[in-house]
Amino acid sequence: MTITNVGIVGAGQMGNGIAHVFALAGYEVRLHDISAKALETGMATIRANMSRQVGKGRITEDEMNSGLARITTTEDLTTLGPSDLIIEAATEREAIKQAIFDELGPHLRPDTILASNTSSISITRLASRTDRPGKFMGVHFMNPVPLMELVELIRGIATDEATFAALKEVVLRLGKVPTAAEDFPAFIVNRILMPMINEAIYTLYEGVGSVEGIDTSLKLGAHHPMGPLELADFIGLDTCLAIMNVLHEGLADTKYRPCPLLTKYVEAGWYGRKTGRGFYDYRGDVPVPTR
Ligand code: NAD
Repeated sequence: MTITNVGIVGAGQMGNGIAHVFALAGYEVRLHDISAKALETGMATIRANMSRQVGKGRITEDEMNSGLARITTTEDLTTLGPSDLIIEAATEREAIKQAIFDELGPHLRPDTILASNTSSISITRLASRTDRPGKFMGVHFMNPVPLMELVELIRGIATDEATFAALKEVVLRLGKVPTAAEDFPAFIVNRILMPMINEAIYTLYEGVGSVEGIDTSLKLGAHHPMGPLELADFIGLDTCLAIMNVLHEGLADTKYRPCPLLTKYVEAGWYGRKTGRGFYDYRGDVPVPTR
């Protein structure tokens, strides 16, 4: 099956990044969000990020303009139905994702492929509620999407080979590198990354180090490009907590217990960069540690 038009659900940091790379690769993109504000911010982000790429000589002004012209936005989810491929990139909550696939169901073409960008939720379980588990899989992009090379491809138990091959071809056309991960909680990248971030939060919680001390230690002591707390703020603390909960419940091992301090930040609505405050306060000119 040749994929030419793609529906994307969710215009947040991942959804707008996914729309960005598909549009530049020549796909027609229909971007949906329940929030008009998120669609507006999403499009502004795409424009700003593409302008930066033009400034750095990575793409031409013409490529930017034709890329932007390939993206349409809508608050009506059902208009994504006729797409060749639909990628769901909404909030990391299973009930939200299920409701999206339920609502899309009656409006899909028989051959439409469904994919989720979930960081941790079972692809097999999400697929089982749809009428097409064979044409359903996980396509896990990394943040920020325009810069990160990797895309994890996750087969549900019923995903058919043609679907996997079609998505692998799409990822290659985007100029990215696909890896295959089995459908177990958090797949490969977050199975390894998220417990490290959670451990960094425990290190802060137990007073072993300060926010700055922990981030500087990992940057200079392990050559990580970002410290783990800075990275947690970048990913979104709500997403980090959701992934730790999936690991904890899915693997039933106390080593995945989310740090109570992470829970407290999420309860406060301090989700990191996207809300202006997390382990750092981003409301001034320079980020300031909040502990
Ligand atoms: P985000 O909070 O930036 O964006 C989520 C968007 O989903 C919001 O704009 C929200 O309005 C929208 N939304 C919520 N309910 C919706 C609905 N019913 N229909 C349509 N839109 C809806 O979150 P994000 O970081 O973009 O994460 C999105 C998904 O991508 C999650 O599944 C997350 O686990 C995954 N992911 C995140 C990262 C990361 O680093 N943040 C990396 C890879 C994958």
